[in-house]
Amino acid sequence: MTISAISSLIVPALAALVIRQARVSLIEGHMISGSSQLHGCSVGLSPEDRKAMALISRVCLVNGLPDRGSEIHDLLWWCSRPLGEWLRVPEITNCGLETTCLIQEEDGIPTAEAEELAIGFGGLTTGLEEQLFLKFMELLARFPEHRADQYYTSVREFVVRHPVVMGEAFSKLNVNLPSQIGMALQQFYEPVPESWQIDTTVPICMHCGNAMKKGKAGLVCRTIACTASNSAKSRTGSLAPELVRVTRGIRQYWIEPGLDEIRLYDSLIEMGLPVELYPFRDRVDIAVDDLGIDLKAYSSPETLGRRFNRNIGGLSHYRKKWVVVPDWLVSATPSYLDRLRTAMGRDDLICLTVSQAIKNFKSRTANA
Ligand SMILES: [Zn+2]
Repeated sequence: MTISAISSLIVPALAALVIRQARVSLIEGHMISGSSQLHGCSVGLSPEDRKAMALISRVCLVNGLPDRGSEIHDLLWWCSRPLGEWLRVPEITNCGLETTCLIQEEDGIPTAEAEELAIGFGGLTTGLEEQLFLKFMELLARFPEHRADQYYTSVREFVVRHPVVMGEAFSKLNVNLPSQIGMALQQFYEPVPESWQIDTTVPICMHCGNAMKKGKAGLVCRTIACTASNSAKSRTGSLAPELVRVTRGIRQYWIEPGLDEIRLYDSLIEMGLPVELYPFRDRVDIAVDDLGIDLKAYSSPETLGRRFNRNIGGLSHYRKKWVVVPDWLVSATPSYLDRLRTAMGRDDLICLTVSQAIKNFKSRTANA
């Protein structure tokens, strides 16, 4: 294989490796193992995994970089760092991937970008998110459609607003939900580990309600999106045994993007607009009449643009279509929105920051 053929493969091969390993740990519940896969056992590295690792090793050597591909745990650790930090090769820099992380460090789960980059490589078809919520969606499908849509929104909104919650809070909420749905909601939670207690209680973030941890200069919120846009503020929490937290898969897929979704949703509610959250079981994130809004927090505008260039998903159901990006991400990335528009290559989608979206609605309601 020529060097250029290899370099065009490294990103999808690496992203696919990350997704396969996450499937092993997240969906099947096994530990990631550095040993080879034994016949009939799904734990361990497959020949495909070994091939991807060898590819990374080769690219590192060719580019005069330390070999990052020889050991799976080391390689996965590096994947939680921005690609430009450890795999500075032309394929990464030319595609705007320097700031992209394939794994979210806090929970060890692939980022949305990793899934996008792995698409079409090595027969990966069903998304991790889809697999993770499969049982919940199957349960919802047993109810009349309209009810199922309502239950979906109620459960997801509750989770997004309560990354950490007193165990007893469920009994109050369950009144409005069928018992099976209430039980499914509870299964998205697990006990808070004792180690989350600082001094005598688990400190809770004033902005998003998640638990906080010790950072270099004091307490920091465990939600990355929250730390990026708010200054740290805590309120007294509770003892760890009284609390439950959402499980790590849910944190990555619902909590992280949820912070900005809820901020936008609450602002529109405040303006008295007919706004829907996660309508039709997540066709889009937010809808206001014939306007559909998808909120996406990809660090690379090029990766996000390619995604919408390929497929606009649920936005196709709406006459007006907005792609909204958190302010903190746009201000951290040079020319984010321009790069996004270029990579998207389509003029039926409007790209805005969350504040621009709120401003846009404010001026409309003022003019109405
Ligand atoms: Zn927070």
